[in-house]
Amino acid sequence: MSKRHHRLATLASDKNQLLVAGRPVAQLVSIAGASPCYIYDRQALSARVAQFRQQMPSSLRLHYAIKANPMPALVNHMAQYVDGLDVASHQEMLIALGCGMSTAHISFAGPAKGLHELRAAVAAGITINVESSLELERLYQCYDELGIRPRVAFRVNPDFELKSSGMKMAGGPKQFGIDAEQMPAILAGLDLNRLSFQGFHIFSGSQNLNAESLVACHGQTFALAAQLANQVAAPVQHVNIGGGLGIPYFPGEQTLALDDIAQNLQCLLDQRPEVLAHTEFVMELGRWLVGEAGYYVCQVTDKKQSRGQTYLMTNGGLHHHLANSGNFGQVLRKNYPVVLAHCLDSDEQEVVEIVGPLCTPLDIIGAKLTLPTAAVGDYIVVLQSGAYGASASPQKFLGHPEVAELLI
Ligand SMILES: *Cc1c(COP(=O)(O)O)cnc(C)c1O
Repeated sequence: MSKRHHRLATLASDKNQLLVAGRPVAQLVSIAGASPCYIYDRQALSARVAQFRQQMPSSLRLHYAIKANPMPALVNHMAQYVDGLDVASHQEMLIALGCGMSTAHISFAGPAKGLHELRAAVAAGITINVESSLELERLYQCYDELGIRPRVAFRVNPDFELKSSGMKMAGGPKQFGIDAEQMPAILAGLDLNRLSFQGFHIFSGSQNLNAESLVACHGQTFALAAQLANQVAAPVQHVNIGGGLGIPYFPGEQTLALDDIAQNLQCLLDQRPEVLAHTEFVMELGRWLVGEAGYYVCQVTDKKQSRGQTYLMTNGGLHHHLANSGNFGQVLRKNYPVVLAHCLDSDEQEVVEIVGPLCTPLDIIGAKLTLPTAAVGDYIVVLQSGAYGASASPQKFLGHPEVAELLI
C-alpha cells in the first residue's frame, strides 16, 4: 500500500519537476559539485523560526540544538534568527562560538563530558548543563584552576516521561541528567562562591507528534521546575524545557499542530509561581527547525530486475543517510517520502526497491515505493532530510565518497 505522504502536497514544482529554493535539482547538483548531496533551503530554515515566533508565546526563547545539523554555514544561518545555541560536544561548541553567538546564550549538555570539554566550556563562559555529581566536582576544579566561575545549570532526569516519543530521553533510569530525587541534596550543597548558578534543563524526548503528550509533559516540567526552584538559594535565571517537537516522516503521520501546545505554554507561563517570575523559559529544537528544509539527492546508476522486483541502484545510501535506511533508532523500517526530481507525478508508475552501493541488505533508500518510471541518470530525492543526516551517518563505511552539502 502506498499512501501519499502529505509533505508531497507542499512541495514547490514547475512543469512537474521539483524545485528547491526555486531551482531544479539538476542545477543544484551542479552547484553542489556532485551527487550525492544534501541541499538545505535557507529560506525554509528562516521561515520555520518565523513560524515558531508567530505561534508560540512571545516570551518563550528558542534555541537551536546543533546536533540535528552541525554544518557550520547552516548553524551560522540559524544563529541569526534563534536566541541561543545548544551544543553537545567540544566540536559543536567551537562551531557555536564561530557564529559569534554570545556565550551567555550557548549551553552545553551531554552525558560523559570530557575534562577538556568542561575546561573549554568554563573558559569560554558558556552554560554547562551538569549531568552528574562528579561532573559538578570537576567544574569546581575548573574554577580552582582557571579562576572563572562556571555557569551551571542542572540537567534533571524527571520522574515522569514524555509519552509517544520517537526517542525517550528521560523518566526511569537514564544516562542523561541527575534524577530529580537526588537534586535536593545537590542543591543544598552548592558552593555559590565557586559557580554561577543558572537554572535547570529538563529534556524529556525527541520526535513527538502527539500534542496531548507534549502538553501533559510541559505541565509536569513546569511543576518540577517550581519544586526545584524552591530548593536552591539563588535565582533561577532560566529553565530549558527541552523540545521534542517532531516532523512527519512516514505515511499517515501528520504535521504537529502547535496551537494547543502554545496555548498551554502561555497558561503555564502566566500562572507560574513567584519563585519563577523572573525566569526565562527556553525551548530547544533541532529536527523541527531544520528537518523539512533538507533534501538528500542521489542518482540512479543502474536498473535491474530480480525475481519480479525492480531495483533502482543509486550512488547514495545509508553511509550518507542512516536514518532514512531505518537503522537510526527505528524499530520497524518505513519509507521517508521519496520523489523523482524531474517527474513528480506520472501515469506511468512502477513499484521499486531503491538501494545504494553498500554490500549490505540494510542499504535501503526506499522499499516497495510507487514512483514514476525512472531511468539511469535520474535524480532521486529523499525529503525530510535536514536533520540527523550527513553527520549522523557512517560515512567511512565501505570507503565511498563523502556526501556534498549545499546551503542555498
Ligand atoms: C538531541 C537533543 C535535542 C534535539 O532534539 P530534536 O528532536 O532534534 O529537536 C535537544 N536537546 C537535547 C539535550 C538533545 O539531546
